[in-house]
Amino acid sequence: MASIQRTGPFKGRTIGVVNDLSLDEQRYLYQKAKELKTLAKSGGDTRPFRIEDRDYQVYLIFMEDSTRTKESFRNASKFLGCRTNVFDTATSSFNKNESITDTIKMLYGYASDSCFILRTKLEGVCRWLQIALSAYAEATGKPNPGFINAGDGKHEHPTQEFLDEFSFLEHLNWNMNDIHIALTGDLYHGRTVHSKADGLKIFRNVKVDLVAPELLAMPPSYVARMKDNGFEVQIYESLDEYLASGKVAPIWYFTRLQLERMGESVLEKADVLRKSVTFRKDMLGLLPEGTRFYHPLPRDRINPTNPTFLDNLPLNGWDAQSENGYWTRIIEIGMVSGLLGQDFEGELGRPEELPEDFIKETTPAEHKKPEYKVGIKPVEEGIVIDHIAVGKPIEEIWSNIEAIRKILKLNVRSSQGVYHSLRGEGEFKGIISLPDIISFGQKDLKKLAAIAPGCTLNLIRNSSVARKYRLSMPPRIYGFDEISCKNENCISNPKHNEGVVTEFVRKTGSTFVCKYCEREHPFREIWDI
Ligand code: ASP
Repeated sequence: MASIQRTGPFKGRTIGVVNDLSLDEQRYLYQKAKELKTLAKSGGDTRPFRIEDRDYQVYLIFMEDSTRTKESFRNASKFLGCRTNVFDTATSSFNKNESITDTIKMLYGYASDSCFILRTKLEGVCRWLQIALSAYAEATGKPNPGFINAGDGKHEHPTQEFLDEFSFLEHLNWNMNDIHIALTGDLYHGRTVHSKADGLKIFRNVKVDLVAPELLAMPPSYVARMKDNGFEVQIYESLDEYLASGKVAPIWYFTRLQLERMGESVLEKADVLRKSVTFRKDMLGLLPEGTRFYHPLPRDRINPTNPTFLDNLPLNGWDAQSENGYWTRIIEIGMVSGLLGQDFEGELGRPEELPEDFIKETTPAEHKKPEYKVGIKPVEEGIVIDHIAVGKPIEEIWSNIEAIRKILKLNVRSSQGVYHSLRGEGEFKGIISLPDIISFGQKDLKKLAAIAPGCTLNLIRNSSVARKYRLSMPPRIYGFDEISCKNENCISNPKHNEGVVTEFVRKTGSTFVCKYCEREHPFREIWDI
């Protein structure tokens, strides 16, 4: 029996990455976790924070090892009074080659309302399931399930991020003005530090010191994201170099070396690399007054980067930090279940609106009569694609012409070539003339823009241009058989056979990011041809 209505504004939402919650929503999460923790610790009435409905099912699906994240979610679900299922991946149909998508659809059918908490090696799983299951939910007339990412490969770990920020806020007395933090350890493979590129945005002024040897350095895309978010970023290669700088942060965030994600060549050097980010007793005197150390845990029991001599010092912030996982995760499930949020005032997280004006029709009167030809014969009726890969090297222009023909299946009488462009000395462009094609649909136009941004399409009638379209780089490229994400760990990578519709979103210029794993791709790399 449902004791409390669950109709809050976050119902059925997905938390796949930190940015899935707006800054106002993140602040709401922290505020609610603070209220709950204070109430629970003082013996107050925590009933408004409980779902108390066995028809609400919380599924924990952990396909990679976990202790803290899994147990804090399991206990959070128990506190909430939901039906809690821990899905045993070792004995499941995953081992009979079933797709994650099929498995989740089946589990979704076993309750009237549910949320799924997933830890996977594959990246971008929650984003994909949100899309796949919302279509299924519509077909079955049931509410959209919520999805919470409990760590996907080396991509993100948003719920760890929320408990980390909550811990920093407690330490800083809830002052959201400034934070100066050092991130150290394995910044390359550690998903918890990647999530900091967005999670720290709740502070007005952010200074981040990245301390890691080159082989474990923060990937450039995350450094760029931090800078884009207005953070002041400094880079150091070891703790010794950092401490000698004299500009040391009072909050340190350690991470372990993620040996299970390292390739052979890095693994061989693990001991040397670890040394440069391991804290020593002689470093204690170099820390600013009141410094606090944090760690997402686990720490390596043989070679911890934050060694055990620190455990009983006031520096130890990590024990209280891990407890905070319980409070923040209760609130996260409470939010996506629709229980919490009625008192939320602020901006709701929304998918970004993408412009669709990448196809512009221009008036043919602006242009002189063209002299498009098939071979030596002028085109009287048909289509001419002009300015293909203009200004690019000649080989690239030819390969772009080839890609257009192949993807648009232009197996018709036609001619093509590489010609001088009027843009300037030594500049070239490609042209395809198609006298047998007299109509070109909107879908084909979009496809052409995605293959050859910058080209023009001319409809020729009675030997002159009747319509002309300028095609620029589209904001999204999706759904073509000839594109794929080149990250082998991405859920959309064809080798995983999950039936994911590949989609790229333009970031800047000609750089696109995969909608699921967020890996950056230069435009040409998207294409398989
Ligand atoms: N527990 C964290 C994670 O799942 C950190 C770690 O494993 O090192 O990413």
